[in-house]
Amino acid sequence: MGDLLSKLGEQNFLNKEEIVHFLSHLTAETKTRLFRMADETRQLHYSKSVYMRGLIEFSNYCRRDCMYCGLRKSNPKVDRYRLTEDEILMCCEEGYALGYRSFVLQSGEDFTFTSRILTRIIQEIKRRFPDSAVTLSIGERDEEFYRKLYEAGADRFLLRHETASRSLYESLHPSMSYDNRIECLHTLKRIGYQVGAGFMVGLPGQTLEHLAEDLLFLKDLHPEMIGIGPFIPHSATPLREATGGTVEDTLVMIAMARLFVPDALMPATTAMGTLDPIGREKALSAGANVVMPILSPLSVREKYALYENKICTGDESAHCRHCIEMRIVSSGYRIDLGRGDHCSYPSPVA
Ligand code: SF4
Repeated sequence: MGDLLSKLGEQNFLNKEEIVHFLSHLTAETKTRLFRMADETRQLHYSKSVYMRGLIEFSNYCRRDCMYCGLRKSNPKVDRYRLTEDEILMCCEEGYALGYRSFVLQSGEDFTFTSRILTRIIQEIKRRFPDSAVTLSIGERDEEFYRKLYEAGADRFLLRHETASRSLYESLHPSMSYDNRIECLHTLKRIGYQVGAGFMVGLPGQTLEHLAEDLLFLKDLHPEMIGIGPFIPHSATPLREATGGTVEDTLVMIAMARLFVPDALMPATTAMGTLDPIGREKALSAGANVVMPILSPLSVREKYALYENKICTGDESAHCRHCIEMRIVSSGYRIDLGRGDHCSYPSPVA
């Protein structure tokens, strides 16, 4: 066991059999060492910095039916909303005043937001806040669409692969194509986006082999960002009775991903904070280095529920900013409110 951990630390790689063996024989002592190594590896590339990104959830409409997601189109209980262009810009305005220089625009797959509308929004954000980075998290579109938004000024794109197992992917995503998902990630990379992939831990039917495939997929893709969170069952989905993922298992995968892709930007997700009051702090100690406080208007926050009991839905943006800052600093890290680019990207001069 110790040998495999040393090998992972030295080579940033284990093969599938080695990963499965490692994960199935983890002791408390090995986990402690794993987390420490992941934290040290993160510090080689990003020192103690934790990057803040203001998250704007601008539409909870979605044309997809992912089995695990509260926003799936078959859930009639969702109170659907779309923010107006002005409302999105006001969120950025508020975030900018609080110091944020990185904004994440997130939605379900909502085709009402055409490339023309999104181009206008991105260009306006860049005009008003030229020293800020824009990340999109809006799902699968075609190459031309992605290209237009990149040319409008979008810097990054988050599209979790969710699971690298084709069979598991297909069982969770009716009418979606695994090949298309993966192709989207390659297209985004080719265009020049800083790309975020990632997966869920604790999905029904997920095995250690599947998790090993996720790590190997990330190694191969080498995304600039990696989002890993626990699966949390939602009562209005077909997976309502499933057992969710645990904080502990997710921490292991965060640390493993940090060692497989040492220079990735990795969020300590809100889902971790939802399962454990100090889940985000634990994720930082296991190699994560990004947090995404919510900037969406208070009136819509509870409506953007991929899972239930999400934290931070009732707090003013200023409160979130200070709460998360306190958590980061008390964990021994340093907040960075800048653009927070991947370490291989020189920050553009505003
Ligand atoms: S996970 Fe994303 S694409 Fe799937 S239903 Fe939820 S919001 Fe839509």
